Parts: sequence; C-alpha cells; structure tokens
Amino acid sequence: MEVYGRVHSFESFGTLDGPGIRFVVFLQGCPLRCRYCHNPDSWATNGGTRISVSEIVKKIDSCRNFLRSGGVTISGGEPLVQPEFSYALLTECRAKGFHTAIDTAGSLPLDQTGKVIDAANMLLLDIKALDNELCIRLTGSDNKNTLATLDYCEKTGKEVWIRHVLVPEWTMTSEHMEKLAGYLKKFNCVSRIDLLPFHRMADFKWHEMNMPTPLPGIKEPDQQQINSAKEIFSTVTGKYVS
Ligand code: SF4
Repeated sequence: MEVYGRVHSFESFGTLDGPGIRFVVFLQGCPLRCRYCHNPDSWATNGGTRISVSEIVKKIDSCRNFLRSGGVTISGGEPLVQPEFSYALLTECRAKGFHTAIDTAGSLPLDQTGKVIDAANMLLLDIKALDNELCIRLTGSDNKNTLATLDYCEKTGKEVWIRHVLVPEWTMTSEHMEKLAGYLKKFNCVSRIDLLPFHRMADFKWHEMNMPTPLPGIKEPDQQQINSAKEIFSTVTGKYVS
C-alpha cells in the first residue's frame, strides 16, 4: 500500500548532511521551537506538500549516479514526527541499495521512533543542550528523549554523528562545552561531532512569519571562538570534530 507524507523541500546534491553527496528529503513538522531555527516554515505539521514514498524514490533514483559516494538523508523539521512515512522511505531506499541517514533532534519517545532508527544506516543526532534547563529555554522542550536516543544507538551499535549548534552565551560557554564533550566521550557509537556555529542568515524567515528576531543581541561566533570550541571537543572526546 502506498504511504504518503508531508515534505518541506528536497536537496538533490547535499554535502552537509551525512557522508558523501546526499539526496536530502526535508520533512514537514517539528515539535521543537529552537530559538535559532533556520526553518521555522517547517514547523507546522499540516504544511508542506503531500507526496508518496514511490514518487520520492523515483526522484532519488534519477540522481543515482551522483549518490554513489553518499546516499539519502531524511531531515526536517523533525523527520520522526512522521514515523510511518520515514520508515517506509528509509526501507525502500535501503532496498534499492542507498546508504540512509536520519537527521533528527531525537525529541520524540523511542516507542515511536525506535523502529525508524533501526531502519537507517546511521543517525545525525542534534543535541541542543546537555543542561536540561538550558535545553528547555532554548527549544521549549527537555532533552530526555534525545539522550535516550543516544543510549539506544549505543546499545544497538548504530553509528551516530553528533550535531551541536554553538550559540554564544547559551551553549558556547566553556562550562557547557566541556560538560557535553565529557558526556560524549564514553559513547562508542559516536564517530564524529559536527559543531554548527549560530548564524543569522534565517532572520528574514522569522520576520516573514511575523515573529520577533530570534536571540536578539546574540552575535555570530567568530573564527577564533569556533576554533577554541573545536579544540575543547576534540581534546576531551578524542573524536573527529568538524
Ligand atoms: S529541531 Fe530543527 S527544525 Fe525543529 S525547531 Fe529546532 S532547528 Fe528548527
């Protein structure tokens, strides 16, 4: 039976969302409200375009030659808010020989998401903040499910790339970065950490949606601050940091 879901957009030549060149499917809907979100137009679960798994797989197949070094990533929004759709899409892609990744904040409970995670080759797991209070202030939600998702990947041996947004005065304090790096060190499933500097390129989207400027007064980190953050994460974890 054909499975339908709601998609925000596609990127047929993605180089930032997993290993190699990737076809990225951005799914519609997200339960979080990150103060630095660069895609607030992906929040509404009833937005985007309704489309079937087979229509998407046809698009992906037409790019097969470019995707040999990479594969397919489902992102968002939060792809796990549509678990049946994500599961069907990942399963179909893997059956066709594509490497698959889920780019997720892990904000939903494992009883809804475990089966979908099992269906992918790897996870790009976005840890917003290790400190729970900070996480709530930054995203509107706690980090319980995110940390449980990481535990689940460790238990099942699922490869994880951690993603973490560096926000000056919020997550980019030495105290928070050292704590998070110390926490990640013990996870064998984590093969890489991507640090993503906060940027203001999406402010216009917030204005278009009649929302106030996100994180007013917070500046984008400079290269020296970014290098210091990378140094902390690579020294403490001993892992590859980008
Ligand atoms: S999880 Fe991603 S899409 Fe959802 S609010 Fe946060 S940054 Fe935006």
